Amino acid sequence: MRQSTITDFFKDIIIPPLCAVCGKLSHEIVCSSCRAAIETVDSPICIRCGSPVPGSVQNVENCSQCRDQGYAFYRHRSFSLYRGNMKRLIQGFKYDRVYEIGKLLANFLYEAYLKYYHGYMVDYIYIVPGRHIELLAERLSSLSGIPFVDNIIKIRDIYRQQGLGYYQRRENVRESFKIRDCLAASGRNILLIDDVWTTGSTLKEICRVLSESNTGKIFILTLARGN
Ligand SMILES: [Zn+2]
Ligand SMILES: [Zn+2]
Repeated sequence: MRQSTITDFFKDIIIPPLCAVCGKLSHEIVCSSCRAAIETVDSPICIRCGSPVPGSVQNVENCSQCRDQGYAFYRHRSFSLYRGNMKRLIQGFKYDRVYEIGKLLANFLYEAYLKYYHGYMVDYIYIVPGRHIELLAERLSSLSGIPFVDNIIKIRDIYRQQGLGYYQRRENVRESFKIRDCLAASGRNILLIDDVWTTGSTLKEICRVLSESNTGKIFILTLARGN
Protein backbone atom coordinates (compact mmCIF):
# COMPACT_ATOMS: atom_id res chain seq x y z
CA MET A 1 0.00 0.00 0.00
CA ARG A 2 1.36 3.43 -0.95
CA GLN A 3 1.62 6.02 1.80
CA SER A 4 -1.15 8.21 0.36
CA THR A 5 -3.51 5.26 0.09
CA ILE A 6 -2.95 4.43 3.75
CA THR A 7 -3.51 8.05 4.73
CA ASP A 8 -6.69 8.22 2.66
CA PHE A 9 -7.86 4.98 4.20
CA PHE A 10 -7.48 6.24 7.76
CA LYS A 11 -8.81 9.68 6.93
CA ASP A 12 -12.04 8.06 5.75
CA ILE A 13 -12.35 6.16 8.99
CA ILE A 14 -11.65 9.14 11.23
CA ILE A 15 -13.48 11.73 9.13
CA PRO A 16 -15.99 10.01 6.87
CA PRO A 17 -16.46 11.85 3.57
CA LEU A 18 -19.32 14.28 3.96
CA CYS A 19 -21.19 16.49 1.54
CA ALA A 20 -19.98 20.08 1.93
CA VAL A 21 -23.53 21.35 1.66
CA CYS A 22 -25.85 19.02 3.60
CA GLY A 23 -23.27 17.20 5.71
CA LYS A 24 -24.56 13.74 4.84
CA LEU A 25 -22.24 10.88 3.91
CA SER A 26 -21.07 11.30 0.35
CA HIS A 27 -18.12 10.11 -1.69
CA GLU A 28 -18.12 13.35 -3.67
CA ILE A 29 -17.51 16.75 -2.08
CA VAL A 30 -21.13 17.56 -2.94
CA CYS A 31 -23.72 14.77 -2.90
CA SER A 32 -25.84 14.13 -5.97
CA SER A 33 -29.04 15.66 -4.58
CA CYS A 34 -27.27 18.88 -3.48
CA ARG A 35 -25.56 19.02 -6.87
CA ALA A 36 -28.91 18.63 -8.65
CA ALA A 37 -30.40 21.49 -6.58
CA ILE A 38 -27.91 24.05 -7.96
CA GLU A 39 -29.85 26.35 -10.27
CA THR A 40 -28.12 27.04 -13.56
CA VAL A 41 -28.95 30.14 -15.60
CA ASP A 42 -31.24 29.07 -18.38
CA SER A 43 -32.79 30.72 -21.41
CA PRO A 44 -34.30 33.16 -22.02
CA ILE A 45 -31.29 35.33 -21.24
CA CYS A 46 -29.78 38.54 -22.56
CA ILE A 47 -27.25 37.54 -25.23
CA ARG A 48 -24.89 40.27 -24.11
CA CYS A 49 -24.89 40.26 -20.32
CA GLY A 50 -26.38 36.81 -19.72
CA SER A 51 -28.96 37.94 -17.18
CA PRO A 52 -32.23 36.03 -17.14
CA VAL A 53 -35.08 37.74 -18.97
CA PRO A 54 -38.21 36.37 -17.34
CA GLY A 55 -41.37 36.63 -19.38
CA SER A 56 -39.56 36.60 -22.71
CA VAL A 57 -40.03 33.66 -25.06
CA GLN A 58 -36.53 33.87 -26.51
CA ASN A 59 -33.09 35.32 -25.83
CA VAL A 60 -32.86 39.07 -26.28
CA GLU A 61 -30.04 40.99 -27.95
CA ASN A 62 -29.56 43.83 -25.46
CA CYS A 63 -31.58 43.97 -22.26
CA SER A 64 -32.48 47.27 -20.61
CA GLN A 65 -29.41 47.07 -18.32
CA CYS A 66 -27.07 46.64 -21.28
CA ARG A 67 -28.66 49.57 -23.09
CA ASP A 68 -28.46 51.83 -20.05
CA GLN A 69 -24.94 50.98 -19.01
CA GLY A 70 -22.99 50.61 -22.23
CA TYR A 71 -20.93 47.66 -20.98
CA ALA A 72 -17.34 47.41 -22.20
CA PHE A 73 -17.46 43.60 -22.30
CA TYR A 74 -18.66 41.50 -25.21
CA ARG A 75 -20.39 38.72 -23.26
CA HIS A 76 -21.02 37.70 -19.68
CA ARG A 77 -22.19 34.26 -18.63
CA SER A 78 -22.60 32.69 -15.21
CA PHE A 79 -22.77 29.05 -14.30
CA SER A 80 -25.60 29.58 -11.82
CA LEU A 81 -27.55 31.96 -9.64
CA TYR A 82 -25.96 33.19 -6.43
CA ARG A 83 -28.16 31.55 -3.85
CA GLY A 84 -28.80 28.29 -2.04
CA ASN A 85 -26.17 25.59 -2.46
CA MET A 86 -24.02 27.58 -4.85
CA LYS A 87 -23.72 30.44 -2.37
CA ARG A 88 -22.68 28.02 0.37
CA LEU A 89 -20.06 26.41 -1.87
CA ILE A 90 -18.55 29.71 -2.97
CA GLN A 91 -18.40 30.96 0.60
CA GLY A 92 -16.95 27.64 1.75
CA PHE A 93 -14.19 27.97 -0.79
CA LYS A 94 -13.52 31.66 -0.31
CA TYR A 95 -13.50 31.81 3.48
CA ASP A 96 -12.71 28.25 4.61
CA ARG A 97 -10.38 27.47 1.69
CA VAL A 98 -11.70 23.95 1.18
CA TYR A 99 -9.55 22.80 -1.70
CA GLU A 100 -11.94 20.09 -2.92
CA ILE A 101 -14.69 22.68 -3.29
CA GLY A 102 -12.35 24.78 -5.41
CA LYS A 103 -11.82 21.85 -7.76
CA LEU A 104 -15.55 21.39 -8.15
CA LEU A 105 -16.11 25.13 -8.73
CA ALA A 106 -13.41 25.18 -11.40
CA ASN A 107 -15.18 22.26 -13.08
CA PHE A 108 -18.38 24.32 -13.05
CA LEU A 109 -16.53 27.20 -14.73
CA TYR A 110 -15.23 24.82 -17.36
CA GLU A 111 -18.71 23.45 -17.94
CA ALA A 112 -20.03 27.00 -18.48
CA TYR A 113 -17.07 27.83 -20.70
CA LEU A 114 -17.85 24.85 -22.94
CA LYS A 115 -21.53 25.69 -23.00
CA TYR A 116 -21.17 29.36 -23.92
CA TYR A 117 -17.71 30.23 -25.20
CA HIS A 118 -16.22 27.15 -26.77
CA GLY A 119 -16.64 28.36 -30.35
CA TYR A 120 -14.91 31.69 -29.71
CA MET A 121 -11.23 32.45 -30.12
CA VAL A 122 -9.92 33.32 -26.66
CA ASP A 123 -6.27 34.21 -26.10
CA TYR A 124 -5.86 34.52 -22.34
CA ILE A 125 -7.56 33.95 -19.05
CA TYR A 126 -7.37 37.00 -16.77
CA ILE A 127 -8.84 37.24 -13.29
CA VAL A 128 -10.20 39.72 -10.83
CA PRO A 129 -7.22 39.67 -8.42
CA GLY A 130 -7.73 37.29 -5.49
CA ARG A 131 -5.99 34.13 -4.32
CA HIS A 132 -9.11 31.96 -4.53
CA ILE A 133 -9.89 33.17 -8.07
CA GLU A 134 -6.30 32.40 -9.03
CA LEU A 135 -6.74 28.78 -7.96
CA LEU A 136 -9.91 28.51 -10.05
CA ALA A 137 -8.19 30.08 -13.07
CA GLU A 138 -5.19 27.75 -12.85
CA ARG A 139 -7.44 24.73 -12.97
CA LEU A 140 -9.66 26.20 -15.69
CA SER A 141 -6.52 26.91 -17.68
CA SER A 142 -5.35 23.31 -17.49
CA LEU A 143 -8.83 22.03 -18.41
CA SER A 144 -9.35 24.42 -21.34
CA GLY A 145 -5.77 24.83 -22.56
CA ILE A 146 -6.14 28.64 -22.50
CA PRO A 147 -3.13 30.24 -20.80
CA PHE A 148 -3.81 32.05 -17.53
CA VAL A 149 -1.85 35.29 -17.34
CA ASP A 150 -1.72 37.24 -14.11
CA ASN A 151 -1.98 40.59 -15.87
CA ILE A 152 -4.37 42.58 -13.69
CA ILE A 153 -3.10 44.09 -10.47
CA LYS A 154 -4.89 45.76 -7.66
CA ILE A 155 -3.17 49.07 -7.00
CA ARG A 156 -5.35 50.31 -4.20
CA ASP A 157 -7.16 48.63 -1.33
CA ILE A 158 -10.86 48.26 -1.85
CA TYR A 159 -13.10 48.59 1.16
CA ARG A 160 -15.57 45.80 1.57
CA GLN A 161 -18.23 46.12 -1.10
CA GLN A 162 -20.81 44.40 1.06
CA GLY A 163 -23.51 46.73 2.32
CA LEU A 164 -22.68 49.47 -0.18
CA GLY A 165 -25.21 50.71 -2.69
CA TYR A 166 -24.73 50.68 -6.43
CA TYR A 167 -23.14 54.12 -6.80
CA GLN A 168 -21.01 53.72 -3.67
CA ARG A 169 -19.66 50.44 -5.04
CA ARG A 170 -18.77 52.03 -8.32
CA GLU A 171 -16.90 54.88 -6.60
CA ASN A 172 -15.23 52.39 -4.27
CA VAL A 173 -13.50 50.46 -7.09
CA ARG A 174 -12.62 53.38 -9.38
CA GLU A 175 -8.89 53.58 -10.21
CA SER A 176 -8.22 50.41 -8.21
CA PHE A 177 -6.82 48.21 -10.98
CA LYS A 178 -4.03 48.38 -13.47
CA ILE A 179 -2.85 46.24 -16.39
CA ARG A 180 0.68 44.98 -15.79
CA ASP A 181 1.56 44.53 -19.46
CA CYS A 182 -0.71 46.58 -21.73
CA LEU A 183 1.09 45.51 -24.89
CA ALA A 184 0.39 41.83 -24.18
CA ALA A 185 -3.32 42.60 -23.71
CA SER A 186 -3.64 44.74 -26.82
CA GLY A 187 -5.79 43.16 -29.53
CA ARG A 188 -6.25 39.97 -27.49
CA ASN A 189 -9.54 38.33 -26.63
CA ILE A 190 -9.77 37.90 -22.88
CA LEU A 191 -11.70 35.43 -20.75
CA LEU A 192 -12.15 37.33 -17.49
CA ILE A 193 -12.95 35.22 -14.42
CA ASP A 194 -14.56 36.09 -11.12
CA ASP A 195 -16.61 34.22 -8.56
CA VAL A 196 -19.73 36.36 -8.15
CA TRP A 197 -21.38 39.14 -10.12
CA THR A 198 -23.40 41.23 -7.68
CA THR A 199 -23.70 44.73 -9.10
CA GLY A 200 -20.75 44.05 -11.38
CA SER A 201 -18.91 47.20 -10.28
CA THR A 202 -15.49 45.51 -9.96
CA LEU A 203 -15.78 43.64 -13.25
CA LYS A 204 -17.02 46.72 -15.07
CA GLU A 205 -14.13 48.78 -13.76
CA ILE A 206 -11.63 46.11 -14.90
CA CYS A 207 -13.29 46.02 -18.34
CA ARG A 208 -12.97 49.79 -18.53
CA VAL A 209 -9.24 49.56 -17.74
CA LEU A 210 -8.78 46.70 -20.21
CA SER A 211 -10.53 48.57 -23.01
CA GLU A 212 -8.08 51.44 -22.45
CA SER A 213 -5.40 48.89 -23.40
CA ASN A 214 -7.32 48.19 -26.61
CA THR A 215 -8.04 44.57 -25.84
CA GLY A 216 -10.14 42.59 -28.28
CA LYS A 217 -13.35 41.06 -27.01
CA ILE A 218 -13.83 40.54 -23.29
CA PHE A 219 -15.75 37.43 -22.27
CA ILE A 220 -16.69 37.48 -18.61
CA LEU A 221 -17.30 34.16 -16.91
CA THR A 222 -18.52 34.03 -13.32
CA LEU A 223 -19.61 31.17 -11.11
CA ALA A 224 -22.79 32.85 -9.99
CA ARG A 225 -24.81 35.98 -10.47
CA GLY A 226 -26.92 37.85 -7.99
CA ASN A 227 -29.08 39.28 -10.76
ZN1 LIG B 1 -25.58 17.07 0.08
ZN1 LIG C 1 -28.17 42.51 -20.94
